[in-house]
Amino acid sequence: MIKYTLICEKAHDFEIWFSKSSDFDEQAPKGLIECPYCRSTKVEKGIMAPNVSTSRKKDAIASKQAKAAQMMNKAAAKIRKEIEDNCDYVGAKFADEARAIHYGEKPERAIYGEASPDEAADLHNEGVEIAPLPDILSPKSKSKQN
Ligand SMILES: [Zn+2]
Repeated sequence: MIKYTLICEKAHDFEIWFSKSSDFDEQAPKGLIECPYCRSTKVEKGIMAPNVSTSRKKDAIASKQAKAAQMMNKAAAKIRKEIEDNCDYVGAKFADEARAIHYGEKPERAIYGEASPDEAADLHNEGVEIAPLPDILSPKSKSKQN
């Protein structure tokens, strides 16, 4: 038996036991594994402890690292979800939109998108409040552009 921590597209995480490690790869694409919270079948494996060493000490370190990575992964997934749910994706128009909102030309709302380093610097100099969003925190789905 092997235990996996899985994460669904809505960032729910749950544990599931398989009889062998190839089970996930066989069952997931067929939609046989579903999130117990939202019944989504879009699930991904969480980060597993690497099994590269026989030394107990190394294993212990690896498992701590994996745990930390997993926690980060989970936290990042939740933040991505928050951003996706609460902010509008404006893509390359980010600088224009941020400026329009800053100067009151458009109603106040939370947005995210892409800006070049120059655009970001200009916005900062104009006093527009922006924050860089690391890749890991960027929602994957960028389809909310309209
Ligand atoms: Zn779910």
